Amino acid sequence: MNNRAKKELLFKIYSENFKYIKDNSSLKNNFEKDFGCYCPICLIYFEKADLFDKINPLTIEHNPPQSLGGKGSVLTCKKCNSEAGHKIDNEILNKLLEIDAVNFKPNAEIKTQFFNDSTEGKGVNANIKIDKDRKIIINIDSKNNNPKTQQNFLNSEVHEYKSPFFSDNLIDTGWTKKLKFTFKKPKKANERLATISLLKIAYLMAFEKLGHLYLFNKNAEIVREQIKFPDKEIIKNPFWINYKFPDNILGVNIITKPRELRSILVVYDLKTKSDTYRIAICIPGFSEDDDKIYENINEKLCKGESFENVEVNNYINSEYKIKNLEDTFLLVNFWESFVEKQ
Ligand SMILES: [Zn+2]
Repeated sequence: MNNRAKKELLFKIYSENFKYIKDNSSLKNNFEKDFGCYCPICLIYFEKADLFDKINPLTIEHNPPQSLGGKGSVLTCKKCNSEAGHKIDNEILNKLLEIDAVNFKPNAEIKTQFFNDSTEGKGVNANIKIDKDRKIIINIDSKNNNPKTQQNFLNSEVHEYKSPFFSDNLIDTGWTKKLKFTFKKPKKANERLATISLLKIAYLMAFEKLGHLYLFNKNAEIVREQIKFPDKEIIKNPFWINYKFPDNILGVNIITKPRELRSILVVYDLKTKSDTYRIAICIPGFSEDDDKIYENINEKLCKGESFENVEVNNYINSEYKIKNLEDTFLLVNFWESFVEKQ
């Protein structure tokens, strides 16, 4: 399917989802606009005619980001997708690449600069690569170096002789060449922005699965505001839950117990060339006070209590399909009749 067809298909699915909610709620009599759907981040409404708007059209958003293995699965407007989006998505990419690199995981790569006495304070640009067998390969980046600095650096090689008679390691003996240098660690990613990117992925996955029902959840407002304004501190700490959830929990779930942690639990994988990171993030549920989830996680999970006592329900994952219009409100019933009774 080409991009245009995919965009039209997603538009149709989410517009039908909104129309069903509108036709079956109080919106029915006072919503005047044509068939369409909302950008889940800025909540601008897009009619069919705006779909290919020249200034701010709806665009296919890869969620998780394409660089971390995600597929084009939801529509967001160009402004939300490219402006706020890329800035925070780059931070999570950098953060994971940094974890790959400092742990010397296979296929990791670090761009860095080498320093020694010969470089006189200037760095020599280089690339350290860990291959699939964890061998370290060093490449000097000739294109981006001052030729004189680079030559001085390479000439700083020292020849050493170690007699085999005084060594118990034969490989390390005889004449060897050595380059001594130090190198800068990779630039640290901004952890807070990286965590907001994780929150955004979770929020958009909930929208992908539940459609406008999740957008109209008033508790989700703080998440949306935080994604729109990543530099503001709206949620103090969105807490990436450090627990290795099993594969059957991948996707959108509900934490039913304990009450303080009641929320939507979104679990997903982010893939770099070196590893797969399983992420679990809570976003607010539909009950009164469910927007207190981030304070409660801090109280409950960050002070020694284990995650083992938490009950996770996979009703949404197993029962919910955005295309089944008759199911649109199922979650509301399930929430009132089951989740709130726990
Ligand atoms: Zn938008």
